[in-house]
Amino acid sequence: MTTGISWDVAVIGAGIVGAACAWRLAERGLKVVVLEQGSPAGGSTGKSAAGVRAQFTSETNILLSKHSIEEYASMPEASYQPGGYLLLVPEAQWPSAQLGVDLQHRLGVPTECLTPTEAQMHAEFLPDGLGGCTYCGTDGHVDAHGLTMVYVNRARELGTRFLLDTTVTGIQRAGEIWRLTTSAGMVEAPLLVNSSGAWSGEVGALAGLEIPVQPARRMVFTTGPLKLPRPLPMIFDLESGVWLRSEGERIILGRANPVDVGWREGMEWDWLEPTLEAAMTRFPWLETASLDRRASWWGYYEVTPDHQAIVGRMPGVEGWLNACGFSGHGIMHAAAIARVIAQEALGETPFIDLSPLRYERFEQMPQDLTDIQV
Ligand SMILES: Cc1cc2nc3c(=O)[nH]c(=O)nc-3n(C[C@H](O)[C@H](O)[C@H](O)COP(=O)(O)OP(=O)(O)OC[C@H]3O[C@@H](n4cnc5c(N)ncnc54)[C@H](O)[C@@H]3O)c2cc1C
Repeated sequence: MTTGISWDVAVIGAGIVGAACAWRLAERGLKVVVLEQGSPAGGSTGKSAAGVRAQFTSETNILLSKHSIEEYASMPEASYQPGGYLLLVPEAQWPSAQLGVDLQHRLGVPTECLTPTEAQMHAEFLPDGLGGCTYCGTDGHVDAHGLTMVYVNRARELGTRFLLDTTVTGIQRAGEIWRLTTSAGMVEAPLLVNSSGAWSGEVGALAGLEIPVQPARRMVFTTGPLKLPRPLPMIFDLESGVWLRSEGERIILGRANPVDVGWREGMEWDWLEPTLEAAMTRFPWLETASLDRRASWWGYYEVTPDHQAIVGRMPGVEGWLNACGFSGHGIMHAAAIARVIAQEALGETPFIDLSPLRYERFEQMPQDLTDIQV
């Protein structure tokens, strides 16, 4: 059985990246089908902390975030909250953070350099070991699920078909066509977009391709209601890797566990204590907070060896485009990624230089790994 329709592009995955790509591809006149094994935003997208920030140290990442945030700010359904991002930077990293801020300014991102004392206007924290802080008031968070549904609906209005509860189980190239075996039958298209999130390595393997994306479990711990003098921006302590922000009257917080890699399921409550210990060293007031276990959650990051996304045409593989491996930045980059993927699909030069994110870099590792990873 086939869907009986000749598609121009098959998009695998209806997370925020796949949904946004589907819309931008359809907007350019292409006939698009999206294959999703569950429901839209049911993968990492619906589990994220939905933070968006343009505070990066590479031009490509800054521009991907800047253009995406501008798009989200123009969409009421995105519920864009410019609550700011405050980065607490250790002494050793302060010189490179300042260079990053210079670059952000050149690209139109209004990040401020603050002393730890000045930064206390945003949040209370202990300043030990910090060289300085950076704060950008146009960073913040969005409603990632709501955004994904907007993209799904926009794509549908342009004729895109979403095959939900449909798993891609086989991929073969037959002449100039990708032939996808799915639980809903065969789907064929000359172009394929691999936007399958943490599953992208496995989807690549279906076609015999090595795409270095691994799942890595992340926890989000949620406190009970707290009385704070003001809502907290997203704060990232680069020393300990702890991040936190206000979510209504509560705080959500997390910290990457570097050994939690692979398809591990469920909450890892043993990771709570190391997270809180590190968090309370910087934010001692957290001691008064209670934990709301039922409001805490987990999900998968989609991690590459250098914690940078893999975007663009796959070298030597006709008709295969990657939009995956965002390593925890997929929400903040999705809108711009969709535009560059549509440009790649049509053979145009992407409006943002994708060189640092192209698959080819893995032939030249190691490379610059300085961008922060939250
Ligand atoms: C706890 C946590 C916090 C995070 N915080 C942030 C944050 O603050 N900011 C930020 O930018 N990012 C954050 N992220 C990362 C962000 O969630 C991801 O980068 C983003 O959701 C990636 O979107 P995606 O569409 O590529 O992947 P997904 O949303 O995972 O979508 C991929 C889809 O592909 C489908 N799929 C996979 N295999 C197949 C197959 N064989 N057939 C059919 N369908 C398939 C899946 O079902 C899934 O729906 C966080 C992630 C987690 C887990």
